[in-house]
Amino acid sequence: MTTKKADPATALIHHPYHPPQGFEAPQPGVFKASTVIFPNVAALRARNWKSKSGYTYGLHGTPTTFTLEERIATLEGGLQTLLVPSGLASIALVDMALLKAGDELLIPDNAYGPNKELARNELAGWGITHRFYDAMDPASLAAAITPATKLVWLEAAGSVTMEFPDLRALVRIARERGILVALDNTWGAGIAFDAFDLGEGLAVDISAHALTKYPSGGGDVLMGAVTTRDEALHLKLKFAHMRMGWGVGANDAEAVLRALPSLPLRYAAQDAAGRRLAQWWAAQPQVAQLLHPALPGSPGHEHWASHCRAAAGLFSVVFDERIAAERIDAFVDALRLFKLGYSWAGPVSLAVPYALGGMRERPAWKGALVRFSLGLENVDDLIADSEQALKASGLA
Ligand SMILES: *Cc1c(COP(=O)(O)O)cnc(C)c1O
Repeated sequence: MTTKKADPATALIHHPYHPPQGFEAPQPGVFKASTVIFPNVAALRARNWKSKSGYTYGLHGTPTTFTLEERIATLEGGLQTLLVPSGLASIALVDMALLKAGDELLIPDNAYGPNKELARNELAGWGITHRFYDAMDPASLAAAITPATKLVWLEAAGSVTMEFPDLRALVRIARERGILVALDNTWGAGIAFDAFDLGEGLAVDISAHALTKYPSGGGDVLMGAVTTRDEALHLKLKFAHMRMGWGVGANDAEAVLRALPSLPLRYAAQDAAGRRLAQWWAAQPQVAQLLHPALPGSPGHEHWASHCRAAAGLFSVVFDERIAAERIDAFVDALRLFKLGYSWAGPVSLAVPYALGGMRERPAWKGALVRFSLGLENVDDLIADSEQALKASGLA
């Protein structure tokens, strides 16, 4: 009697081979699942997706997402982290988990634009009101708070105009009134300052972080994280996260895990290059103002100096008001190494022109600026590129 060959249809699915345990390599393995298989009915009934004690379903965590969550919590100085499909989703998760109809939300006037748009559109439609405050004037935050205020967003540095607020003063105002504080920590990335240890015993309650930027570092992944130190607050966010089904893909989690070991080095290199290029710009005659929180004279520089040990490789150049916007556009088009595109912290340096009129309520900015984000190219080449584009566009 010959043993019959197993039917591949079944044998390839229910294969008896298991590789040996104990494989170690510099990077953790990648686990992919929608379905998680339970050993028996008792285990299935006893499933618990509220903690990292086990596995229930791909959406609620795999070894890969748990590993990334733990590393981001460490980076931020938090205790618990949730992963979401983008940085913007990290903002949306916080808003949607913590606010209900009748509540009011306060957002800095210089916040990441889509944070404000979410409040103006979806949240407003659900009966959640919002107000914008001037992050550089703590009194304007205090004045905006009403009994309906349930959440205050902070952002440091501000988006595009790069003002660095007095985080401790803003947190203190919210804390004294028992209002939760969420920080968009994308710029600081857990490197420039400690969101959960701002000094004087002050901390934010929630840090939202676009892992798309520094933690990924590749310009090829979209992901966000929401980090907390309070277990009850974490669970509130986790329930909402679970019910809204905002999981992340294993390949994306792997890409971020792979990039994390080089994050401090990349942040430091992009910081150094950013300051060099910003200083070069500061000496150019076409420039009205340089917006880089680590440079004296930039709005909130003194707050940056008292909160931070580093800065992101990101700054804006406000051009002399007499220079026509078309000429500034021509300058950006003439750049060769700097590419034109949103996002930042990847390997490729980027430039984006913004018209300032109408972008802010307080103070009202005028003219045009170009926001530069440093990639990982040689900074002398980036200076040369800026110089040739000024000449090519007739600005120099
Ligand atoms: C990019 C960015 C986000 C959003 O991240 P995405 O992953 O692109 O959605 C949020 N906040 C800040 C400050 C950002 O720069």
